[in-house]
Amino acid sequence: MKAAPQSATCHQRVIAIDGPAAAGKSTVARELADRLGALLFDTGALYRTVALAALRAGVSADDGKALAEIAGESTVAIHGASQRDGRLYDIWLGEEDVTWAVRSPEVGAIVSQVSEHPEVRAALLPVQRRIAGNGPVVMVGRDIGTVVVPDAGLKIYLDANSRERAHRRHLETLARGGDETFQEVLMQTLRRDTVDSGRDVAPLRQASDAIRIDTADQTIESVVKTVESLARAQRMPCGKPVWPP
Ligand code: C5P
Repeated sequence: MKAAPQSATCHQRVIAIDGPAAAGKSTVARELADRLGALLFDTGALYRTVALAALRAGVSADDGKALAEIAGESTVAIHGASQRDGRLYDIWLGEEDVTWAVRSPEVGAIVSQVSEHPEVRAALLPVQRRIAGNGPVVMVGRDIGTVVVPDAGLKIYLDANSRERAHRRHLETLARGGDETFQEVLMQTLRRDTVDSGRDVAPLRQASDAIRIDTADQTIESVVKTVESLARAQRMPCGKPVWPP
Protein backbone atom coordinates (compact mmCIF):
# COMPACT_ATOMS: atom_id res chain seq x y z
CA MET A 1 0.00 0.00 0.00
CA LYS A 2 1.35 3.41 -0.95
CA ALA A 3 1.78 5.90 1.86
CA ALA A 4 2.54 9.58 1.95
CA PRO A 5 5.35 10.76 4.26
CA GLN A 6 4.21 11.03 7.83
CA SER A 7 4.05 14.42 9.48
CA ALA A 8 4.32 15.18 13.17
CA THR A 9 0.71 15.35 14.28
CA CYS A 10 -1.28 15.65 17.44
CA HIS A 11 -3.92 12.94 17.37
CA GLN A 12 -6.50 14.52 19.62
CA ARG A 13 -9.24 13.84 17.06
CA VAL A 14 -8.47 10.16 16.80
CA ILE A 15 -10.64 7.74 18.74
CA ALA A 16 -8.91 4.36 19.02
CA ILE A 17 -11.17 1.35 19.52
CA ASP A 18 -9.34 -1.90 20.15
CA GLY A 19 -10.44 -5.29 21.38
CA PRO A 20 -10.79 -8.95 20.45
CA ALA A 21 -12.76 -10.33 17.49
CA ALA A 22 -16.52 -9.67 17.49
CA ALA A 23 -16.53 -7.47 20.59
CA GLY A 24 -18.74 -5.02 18.67
CA LYS A 25 -15.94 -2.65 17.66
CA SER A 26 -16.93 -2.02 14.04
CA THR A 27 -20.64 -1.61 14.69
CA VAL A 28 -20.02 0.79 17.57
CA ALA A 29 -17.40 2.67 15.56
CA ARG A 30 -19.70 3.06 12.51
CA GLU A 31 -22.44 4.66 14.59
CA LEU A 32 -20.02 6.74 16.62
CA ALA A 33 -18.23 8.05 13.53
CA ASP A 34 -21.58 9.04 11.98
CA ARG A 35 -22.67 10.87 15.11
CA LEU A 36 -19.38 12.70 15.54
CA GLY A 37 -18.87 13.51 11.86
CA ALA A 38 -15.65 11.50 11.69
CA LEU A 39 -14.23 9.00 9.23
CA LEU A 40 -14.38 5.32 10.16
CA PHE A 41 -11.22 3.34 9.50
CA ASP A 42 -11.41 -0.35 10.36
CA THR A 43 -7.80 -1.51 10.15
CA GLY A 44 -8.85 -5.18 10.24
CA ALA A 45 -9.99 -4.59 6.64
CA LEU A 46 -6.36 -4.01 5.62
CA TYR A 47 -5.15 -7.26 7.15
CA ARG A 48 -8.12 -9.16 5.73
CA THR A 49 -7.47 -7.77 2.25
CA VAL A 50 -3.82 -8.85 2.39
CA ALA A 51 -4.97 -12.33 3.49
CA LEU A 52 -7.46 -12.47 0.59
CA ALA A 53 -4.86 -11.34 -1.95
CA ALA A 54 -2.42 -13.94 -0.58
CA LEU A 55 -4.98 -16.73 -0.91
CA ARG A 56 -5.66 -15.73 -4.49
CA ALA A 57 -1.96 -15.49 -5.34
CA GLY A 58 -1.23 -18.85 -3.72
CA VAL A 59 1.15 -17.22 -1.20
CA SER A 60 1.55 -19.12 2.06
CA ALA A 61 0.46 -17.49 5.32
CA ASP A 62 3.94 -18.43 6.61
CA ASP A 63 5.82 -16.37 4.03
CA GLY A 64 6.22 -12.99 5.74
CA LYS A 65 8.37 -11.50 3.00
CA ALA A 66 5.96 -12.38 0.16
CA LEU A 67 2.98 -11.24 2.25
CA ALA A 68 4.66 -7.90 2.96
CA GLU A 69 5.17 -7.47 -0.79
CA ILE A 70 1.47 -8.08 -1.33
CA ALA A 71 0.68 -5.56 1.42
CA GLY A 72 2.99 -3.02 -0.21
CA GLU A 73 1.62 -3.48 -3.72
CA SER A 74 -2.11 -3.77 -3.07
CA THR A 75 -4.30 -0.75 -3.57
CA VAL A 76 -6.94 -0.95 -0.88
CA ALA A 77 -9.69 1.64 -0.47
CA ILE A 78 -12.31 1.86 2.25
CA HIS A 79 -15.42 3.94 1.48
CA GLY A 80 -18.84 4.56 2.98
CA ALA A 81 -21.29 1.70 2.35
CA SER A 82 -22.53 1.77 -1.27
CA GLN A 83 -25.16 -0.93 -0.71
CA ARG A 84 -27.71 -1.69 1.97
CA ASP A 85 -26.82 -5.33 2.41
CA GLY A 86 -25.63 -5.21 6.00
CA ARG A 87 -22.17 -3.84 5.26
CA LEU A 88 -20.77 -1.06 7.46
CA TYR A 89 -18.45 0.19 4.70
CA ASP A 90 -17.06 -0.86 1.30
CA ILE A 91 -13.64 -2.43 0.92
CA TRP A 92 -12.09 -2.26 -2.55
CA LEU A 93 -9.04 -4.14 -3.72
CA GLY A 94 -8.05 -2.38 -6.93
CA GLU A 95 -11.20 -2.32 -9.07
CA GLU A 96 -13.00 -5.04 -7.14
CA ASP A 97 -15.47 -4.71 -4.30
CA VAL A 98 -14.17 -7.30 -1.80
CA THR A 99 -16.35 -6.25 1.16
CA TRP A 100 -17.81 -9.72 1.61
CA ALA A 101 -14.92 -11.71 0.14
CA VAL A 102 -12.69 -10.59 3.02
CA ARG A 103 -15.28 -11.93 5.49
CA SER A 104 -15.12 -15.48 4.10
CA PRO A 105 -14.23 -18.36 6.45
CA GLU A 106 -11.08 -18.97 4.34
CA VAL A 107 -9.81 -15.45 5.04
CA GLY A 108 -10.88 -15.70 8.69
CA ALA A 109 -8.87 -18.91 9.02
CA ILE A 110 -5.54 -17.33 8.02
CA VAL A 111 -5.83 -13.61 8.75
CA SER A 112 -4.29 -13.78 12.22
CA GLN A 113 -1.37 -15.81 10.90
CA VAL A 114 -0.86 -13.23 8.14
CA SER A 115 -1.03 -10.37 10.67
CA GLU A 116 1.58 -11.96 12.92
CA HIS A 117 4.47 -11.19 10.55
CA PRO A 118 6.43 -8.09 11.56
CA GLU A 119 7.08 -7.35 7.85
CA VAL A 120 3.35 -7.25 7.13
CA ARG A 121 2.68 -4.98 10.10
CA ALA A 122 5.54 -2.69 9.08
CA ALA A 123 4.13 -2.44 5.54
CA LEU A 124 0.67 -1.48 6.81
CA LEU A 125 1.72 0.91 9.58
CA PRO A 126 2.42 4.03 7.45
CA VAL A 127 -0.99 3.80 5.75
CA GLN A 128 -2.73 3.69 9.12
CA ARG A 129 -0.68 6.55 10.52
CA ARG A 130 -1.30 8.69 7.46
CA ILE A 131 -5.05 8.32 7.92
CA ALA A 132 -4.72 9.03 11.65
CA GLY A 133 -2.77 12.18 10.77
CA ASN A 134 -5.60 13.39 8.57
CA GLY A 135 -8.23 12.98 11.38
CA PRO A 136 -10.97 13.28 12.61
CA VAL A 137 -11.27 9.51 12.60
CA VAL A 138 -12.54 6.58 14.60
CA MET A 139 -9.94 3.83 14.15
CA VAL A 140 -10.69 0.20 14.93
CA GLY A 141 -8.17 -2.59 15.41
CA ARG A 142 -6.04 -4.51 17.84
CA ASP A 143 -3.05 -2.19 18.34
CA ILE A 144 -4.36 1.28 17.56
CA GLY A 145 -4.06 2.63 21.10
CA THR A 146 -0.79 0.82 21.84
CA VAL A 147 1.21 1.09 18.60
CA VAL A 148 -0.47 2.84 15.67
CA VAL A 149 -1.68 5.98 17.46
CA PRO A 150 -0.40 5.84 21.06
CA ASP A 151 -1.33 9.53 21.51
CA ALA A 152 -4.94 9.11 20.34
CA GLY A 153 -7.25 11.58 22.10
CA LEU A 154 -9.54 8.83 23.35
CA LYS A 155 -8.80 5.12 23.70
CA ILE A 156 -11.48 2.53 24.19
CA TYR A 157 -11.03 -1.20 24.72
CA LEU A 158 -14.19 -3.18 23.94
CA ASP A 159 -14.41 -6.66 25.34
CA ALA A 160 -16.93 -9.46 25.92
CA ASN A 161 -16.68 -13.12 26.86
CA SER A 162 -15.79 -15.44 24.01
CA ARG A 163 -19.14 -17.27 23.81
CA GLU A 164 -21.03 -14.01 23.50
CA ARG A 165 -18.64 -12.78 20.81
CA ALA A 166 -18.86 -16.06 18.89
CA HIS A 167 -22.65 -15.97 19.20
CA ARG A 168 -22.76 -12.51 17.59
CA ARG A 169 -20.36 -13.51 14.83
CA HIS A 170 -22.37 -16.67 14.19
CA LEU A 171 -25.60 -14.67 13.79
CA GLU A 172 -23.84 -12.31 11.35
CA THR A 173 -22.56 -15.30 9.37
CA LEU A 174 -26.02 -16.91 9.19
CA ALA A 175 -27.58 -13.61 8.12
CA ARG A 176 -25.19 -13.58 5.15
CA GLY A 177 -26.18 -17.12 4.19
CA GLY A 178 -23.10 -18.80 5.71
CA ASP A 179 -23.39 -22.34 7.04
CA GLU A 180 -20.73 -22.50 9.76
CA THR A 181 -21.86 -23.96 13.05
CA PHE A 182 -21.65 -22.05 16.33
CA GLN A 183 -18.90 -24.41 17.45
CA GLU A 184 -16.83 -23.67 14.34
CA VAL A 185 -17.22 -19.92 14.83
CA LEU A 186 -16.32 -20.24 18.50
CA MET A 187 -13.18 -22.24 17.72
CA GLN A 188 -12.08 -19.72 15.11
CA THR A 189 -12.74 -16.81 17.48
CA LEU A 190 -10.64 -18.47 20.21
CA ARG A 191 -7.86 -19.32 17.74
CA ARG A 192 -7.71 -15.72 16.52
CA ASP A 193 -7.70 -14.37 20.09
CA THR A 194 -4.78 -16.64 20.96
CA VAL A 195 -2.68 -15.67 17.95
CA ASP A 196 -3.58 -11.96 18.14
CA SER A 197 -2.74 -11.64 21.81
CA GLY A 198 0.26 -13.96 21.75
CA ARG A 199 2.28 -12.50 18.89
CA ASP A 200 5.58 -10.72 19.53
CA VAL A 201 4.86 -7.55 17.56
CA ALA A 202 1.91 -5.33 18.45
CA PRO A 203 -0.13 -7.97 20.30
CA LEU A 204 -3.75 -7.38 21.19
CA ARG A 205 -3.59 -5.64 24.54
CA GLN A 206 -5.48 -2.93 26.39
CA ALA A 207 -3.45 0.31 26.45
CA SER A 208 -2.78 1.43 30.01
CA ASP A 209 -4.78 4.62 29.40
CA ALA A 210 -7.67 2.97 27.52
CA ILE A 211 -11.16 2.78 28.98
CA ARG A 212 -12.43 -0.81 29.03
CA ILE A 213 -16.10 -1.42 28.28
CA ASP A 214 -17.63 -4.88 28.57
CA THR A 215 -20.21 -5.12 25.80
CA ALA A 216 -21.63 -8.55 26.73
CA ASP A 217 -24.72 -7.31 28.55
CA GLN A 218 -25.18 -4.03 26.73
CA THR A 219 -26.94 -2.96 23.57
CA ILE A 220 -24.92 -1.32 20.83
CA GLU A 221 -26.85 1.91 21.49
CA SER A 222 -25.81 1.93 25.12
CA VAL A 223 -22.12 1.37 24.27
CA VAL A 224 -22.24 4.06 21.58
CA LYS A 225 -23.84 6.51 24.03
CA THR A 226 -21.12 5.84 26.61
CA VAL A 227 -18.29 6.38 24.14
CA GLU A 228 -20.01 9.38 22.57
CA SER A 229 -20.33 11.12 25.91
CA LEU A 230 -16.68 10.40 26.72
CA ALA A 231 -15.73 11.92 23.36
CA ARG A 232 -17.95 14.97 23.80
CA ALA A 233 -16.44 15.61 27.24
CA GLN A 234 -12.96 15.93 25.73
CA ARG A 235 -11.50 19.42 25.64
CA MET A 236 -8.67 21.04 23.69
CA PRO A 237 -6.00 22.84 25.77
CA CYS A 238 -7.89 26.09 25.01
CA GLY A 239 -11.08 24.63 26.52
CA LYS A 240 -12.92 24.17 23.22
CA PRO A 241 -14.64 20.79 22.78
CA VAL A 242 -12.66 18.31 20.67
CA TRP A 243 -15.96 17.07 19.14
CA PRO A 244 -17.58 18.16 16.88
CA PRO A 245 -14.43 18.83 14.85
O1 C5P B 1 -11.10 -6.79 13.22
P1 C5P B 1 -11.05 -7.98 12.32
O2 C5P B 1 -11.63 -9.21 12.92
O3 C5P B 1 -11.59 -7.71 10.96
O4 C5P B 1 -9.50 -8.25 12.13
C1 C5P B 1 -9.03 -9.38 11.42
C2 C5P B 1 -7.64 -9.74 11.91
O5 C5P B 1 -6.71 -8.73 11.50
C3 C5P B 1 -7.47 -9.83 13.42
O6 C5P B 1 -7.87 -11.08 13.94
C4 C5P B 1 -5.99 -9.60 13.56
O7 C5P B 1 -5.26 -10.78 13.32
C5 C5P B 1 -5.68 -8.62 12.44
N1 C5P B 1 -5.58 -7.24 12.90
C6 C5P B 1 -4.40 -6.85 13.49
N2 C5P B 1 -4.24 -5.55 13.86
C7 C5P B 1 -5.20 -4.65 13.66
C8 C5P B 1 -6.43 -5.03 13.08
C9 C5P B 1 -6.59 -6.35 12.73
O8 C5P B 1 -3.51 -7.66 13.68
N3 C5P B 1 -4.99 -3.37 14.01
